[in-house]
Amino acid sequence: MNKTVAFFGLGHMGGPMTVNLLKAGFSVSGFDPVPELLDLAASHGVKRSASPLETIAGADFVVSMLPNGEDVEALYIDREKLLDRIDKSALVIDCSTVAATSSKRLIAEAQKRGMSAIEAPVSGGVAGAAAGTLSFMCGGEAAHVERAREVLQHMGSNVFHAGPAGAGQTAKMCNNMLLAIHMIGTAEALQLGVDNGLDPKVLSAIMLKSSGANWSLEKYNPYPGVMEKVPASNKYEGGFMVKLMCKDLGLAQQAATASRSYTPLGSLARNLYGLHSLAGNDELDFSSIQRLVGKIN
Ligand code: NAD
Repeated sequence: MNKTVAFFGLGHMGGPMTVNLLKAGFSVSGFDPVPELLDLAASHGVKRSASPLETIAGADFVVSMLPNGEDVEALYIDREKLLDRIDKSALVIDCSTVAATSSKRLIAEAQKRGMSAIEAPVSGGVAGAAAGTLSFMCGGEAAHVERAREVLQHMGSNVFHAGPAGAGQTAKMCNNMLLAIHMIGTAEALQLGVDNGLDPKVLSAIMLKSSGANWSLEKYNPYPGVMEKVPASNKYEGGFMVKLMCKDLGLAQQAATASRSYTPLGSLARNLYGLHSLAGNDELDFSSIQRLVGKIN
């Protein structure tokens, strides 16, 4: 019989992730408080459930892809208290990007109840979620990570075990701080070129074969019209929202304070994204930082 996945959070990432699980032959029951997202998921074959309790019935795996740590802790521990309701034989896999402390709490609370849980935050964006090429950065017991591969391998091409509880989130936080820094740098360089008469497509092609090449330039060009199928060419809609990048940069700064690590560029990136957020851009994709460094539509 097909194994069953209960999936919480059917947004930009969770939606396409469930499609890949369906393609791999899993039965998927899903929940999201936004009815339109439930409708969309149901149109792909996700079993619509009216409540979180209904979602977890008979699940072999419970996967969540939620905005932040408060949502995760509320769902599993404080509000819906799902850890008290999920069958003990199921494996809980939280893929949300949250503070390492939230993941440690989730995993410890699961252990107390004799249950298995890991954190598995991802990299690869909405395109990676749709293509099933995400990278998972897992934290928790090695045996649970091995077990999670049965599900994760259908949503991603890399499953890393970063270390014990919290280690996956630490890896994710470091990665996203670097991502924000090279996205801002890429936007600045493109704007400087445009302001000095260069075509952003020509400049991008040159830098891609030069020492300025990086992921933002190659896969997620922030200048409108340079690449197809990226948020910059869709009025910065879809993708990874500015408010979520602000959250991640805040997590990095909190961790840096606690570990007395000095992250001057991470701190600047947080402030620049914070200003961009205050200017009303929270719901736009994070590559819209291009608008902060120049006049584009
Ligand atoms: P999103 O806001 O599009 O989706 C999150 C969904 O979770 C929303 O639809 C929301 O209604 C739902 N939700 C909130 N509380 C819920 C609950 N209790 N039960 C069920 N659903 C609930 O955000 P997203 O872009 O899909 O990001 C999700 C997570 O993935 C975030 O932690 C983000 O940082 C991380 N992430 C996003 C990207 C990206 O490119 N978008 C990339 C890597 C990681």
